[in-house]
Amino acid sequence: MNIILLGPPGAGKGTQARRLVEERGMTQLSTGDMLREARSSGTEMGRKVAEVMDRGELVTDEIVIGLIAEKLEAGAGGGFIFDGFPRTLAQADALGALLDRMGQKLDAVIEMRVDDEALVARITARSNCGSCGEVYNDLTRPIPADGKCTKCGGTEFKRRADDNETSLRQRLMEYYKKTSPLIGYYYAKGDLTGVDGLAEIDEVSGAIKAILDA
Ligand code: AMP
Repeated sequence: MNIILLGPPGAGKGTQARRLVEERGMTQLSTGDMLREARSSGTEMGRKVAEVMDRGELVTDEIVIGLIAEKLEAGAGGGFIFDGFPRTLAQADALGALLDRMGQKLDAVIEMRVDDEALVARITARSNCGSCGEVYNDLTRPIPADGKCTKCGGTEFKRRADDNETSLRQRLMEYYKKTSPLIGYYYAKGDLTGVDGLAEIDEVSGAIKAILDA
């Protein structure tokens, strides 16, 4: 089963993708994580990617499609969760073509619906465990009082360089200009289902489970 989690930055795509990995043995393909890895590699490409990301703009289709193609070739028994990809119509077409070539298909596109005001508050409050990437949020899921990650016991937590209000406004603009047309694209294909991304994390997981098990 291959699915896309679609929604603006801060909608909870990464959190839900991690749950699906744990519960269903699926493979999370987050282009944001892949690009953060590339930027920390210190290469010329990594430096260019970092500048674009920090401005809150989109990295070129060519780069992200290349990253995804590489991962798809490696295969995944439990299926793929596309998290933060595709973000443009060209990426969506490329993903369709790549899956076709592998004799695979998309089983669901889940739109995580949220309101913009909530996103700014959510994103400026979020952090991740430096070791395992577990997601925390000062407002809804604070780092435990003993300072240890609940998942791996790690004691270092970090905030993303692009999780500030200026960059977020630009990321939202990119989402509405370039990514939100994908809602119509997948609706027309008959693949789209929406969930309320502002519900409690467990409720959102339940709604996604119901879609995948239907
Ligand atoms: P994310 O972790 O998904 O919020 O992505 C962080 C940043 O990485 C974005 O603001 C973009 O600069 C870049 N990025 C991630 N995925 C894509 C994509 N599919 N297409 C273009 N840029 C991307």
